Amino acid sequence: MQPTAPPGDRRPSTSSSCTARMMRQKILTTSARSALMKSVGQSDTAPERSVRSFLHRRGFRFRLNSASLPGRPDIVLSRYRTVIFVHGCFWHGHDCRHGSVQAKTNRDFWTAKIAANRSRDERKSRLLHAADWHVETIWECEVCDEEVMQRLVRRLRSRL
Ligand SMILES: [Zn+2]
Repeated sequence: MQPTAPPGDRRPSTSSSCTARMMRQKILTTSARSALMKSVGQSDTAPERSVRSFLHRRGFRFRLNSASLPGRPDIVLSRYRTVIFVHGCFWHGHDCRHGSVQAKTNRDFWTAKIAANRSRDERKSRLLHAADWHVETIWECEVCDEEVMQRLVRRLRSRL
């Protein structure tokens, strides 16, 4: 386990550089939006990479997209009996300003699509809980939030 920074050493630069990185990646994501729409089940999105590198820098080791678990969780921390899903706010209907954006065209299609994603997410969670896994969901809008990410780290460490 790598040493943790003292409490006073929570540099805001960490999260602003996270935000800047996400903004750059967002530009790429937006230009590829139509390709993205076709592949909601994609892996390796910018928010996912951000969560992975956050955890990796703090000494956590994990597997990715494990096909042996229900729903192929994005990140699997076996040692902590925890899986993490990194969800796009729009695609998975997060209760935030990004999640409440309405599609301009084909609104019914997207509403149905998001509802289907949500019920699939719930089903995956139930299966994983039943198999004794802790299930964490990190929303796209949270990946640069130092507080949210630190709380996740504390929960993980409490499971050892
Ligand atoms: Zn959100």
